Amino acid sequence: MKSVAINGYGTIGKRVADAVSAQDDMKVVGVSKTKPDYEARMAVEKGYDLYIAIPEREKLFNQAGIEIAGTVDEMISNTDIVVDCTPGNIGPENLEKYKKIGVKAIYQGGEKHDLTGLSFNSFANYDDSYGKDYARVVSCNTTGLTRSLKPIDDLCGIKKIRAVMVRRGGDPYQVNKGPINAVVPNPPTVPSHHGPDLQTVMYGADITTVALLVPTTLMHQHNLMVELENDVPLDDVIETLEKRSRVLLLSAEEGLGSTAEFMEYAKELGRSRNDLFEIPIWRESLNIVDGELFYMQAVHQESDVVPENVDAIRSMLEIEENNEKSIAKTNKAMGIF
Ligand code: NAP
Repeated sequence: MKSVAINGYGTIGKRVADAVSAQDDMKVVGVSKTKPDYEARMAVEKGYDLYIAIPEREKLFNQAGIEIAGTVDEMISNTDIVVDCTPGNIGPENLEKYKKIGVKAIYQGGEKHDLTGLSFNSFANYDDSYGKDYARVVSCNTTGLTRSLKPIDDLCGIKKIRAVMVRRGGDPYQVNKGPINAVVPNPPTVPSHHGPDLQTVMYGADITTVALLVPTTLMHQHNLMVELENDVPLDDVIETLEKRSRVLLLSAEEGLGSTAEFMEYAKELGRSRNDLFEIPIWRESLNIVDGELFYMQAVHQESDVVPENVDAIRSMLEIEENNEKSIAKTNKAMGIF
């Protein structure tokens, strides 16, 4: 049983902690916080050992009556791997600590690819992280792009990808990001960073992306135009995506015509936190015109990267050599389609 420390217990960290706990080949040794707020209290109530990132704040945790197990330095000295889920750009400072202690670490998409020089997606490049010390699970948007594009590339080859990314303004709890009432080109230059990020896991992909921020907290939404290398009937594309796990073909005709309805569908699944780990694609949007495939999909930004983190642990700790076996194991433990 391998041990995993979760450094940063926020939107991604708490989900990764629960996902790791659901596996039978790894366990959580601790989670970390800087503030003694409700998330810290609930982590302890859930049974996680809580470590603090800022030792000088021990008194604040004591005053709040939240039991701590020690400092982050102690937590990371006592584990096989750290999943770093701290806010973006804290990574470089933490990497120094991980290197000093000699512990492996997985970062999230808020950190730059250059930090580790190795990015991860379960379907695209699992093997490249096998046994490695440091890697970064690509962002929620890049994970979403990879999930649908990789099987299409495997089926018929991809010449060129163009994507318009409609991004949520903030996560549901982020009241500091609103209220807003605008559409914001983000960035107002072309390309956005998403295309180059995809190339860190789908090497050599010819992709250009543009991105917009909109006033929603529910999901991101992507509009893809994909020039195919080889002619293929639309039915073959549909069959390939239907077979692929962590991708769902859902239908507007059945009442799932928006991201709001996708989130309602997720609630009906009855999962913890109403998470939708899979990437839903609007079935009706799939079309091929003059050798170019069009489709629309959405991304539940809070949860889609979570199963990828579990697979990254298996790859880096050499628990499982075969990506499909790890994916199947993670999916089964988390109830993912
Ligand atoms: P978040 O909700 O703000 O959570 C960050 C967590 O890190 C909090 O628990 C915070 O604790 C803790 N923390 C802050 N400073 C720390 C430090 N120096 N040492 C240890 N812990 C520290 O952030 P998030 O949304 O989960 O994002 C984490 C990473 O995942 C980022 O790289 C982000 O870009 C990426 N990501 C986010 C999303 C998303 O939609 N949210 C999707 C995919 C990837 P306190 O609250 O106690 O300070």
